[in-house]
Amino acid sequence: MDDLELQIKSTIRDVPDFPKPGIVFKDITPLLSDVQLSKSITISLADHWQNSGIDVMVGIESRGFMWGHSLAQHLEIPFVPIRKKGKLPAESHSFAYDLEYGSAEIEIHKDAIMGGQNVLIHDDLLATGGTAIGAAELVQISGGKVAGFSFIVELSFLSGRNKLASYSDVIHALSTY
Ligand code: AMP
Repeated sequence: MDDLELQIKSTIRDVPDFPKPGIVFKDITPLLSDVQLSKSITISLADHWQNSGIDVMVGIESRGFMWGHSLAQHLEIPFVPIRKKGKLPAESHSFAYDLEYGSAEIEIHKDAIMGGQNVLIHDDLLATGGTAIGAAELVQISGGKVAGFSFIVELSFLSGRNKLASYSDVIHALSTY
């Protein structure tokens, strides 16, 4: 484990039984409060992804916006938000998927990605992979190519990584549990 991963893990706050019993929620808000650590995260992500041929960064609402946007700025590429249904104002593509309980629907603006662009998908955390797959589907519907996935945290015991491999096997997480 490198120094940055150690720092991330010692700063993230585990909140048991949130949002429901049995889930240990990885609260990243203490990372946002630590200015130096927050900067180090952006720089480390940028070091990892620079020269990867990424044209566009997609961030998933809402915690995927935090480092997703700062990473896009460092890489000097556009940032595109994926939002929950009904939030985006202009014409959008939608994708619905099942959650453990119930379902979710996410959207992307139709004009956000140009055909053939290489797209990096970023979120704070990879759990079962359902959310990242939804984002990958939206990128493909938009005509983009999924060039990789980026996370701050990966919960490897949930094996989300295996499900993402059919979209891209370029999967990077700064810290793994
Ligand atoms: P999944 O679709 O199962 O991979 O879940 C990933 C999404 O749900 C991400 O947007 C996370 O922010 C959120 N999430 C899932 N599990 C957790 C957890 N244990 N702690 C914090 N966020 C989580």
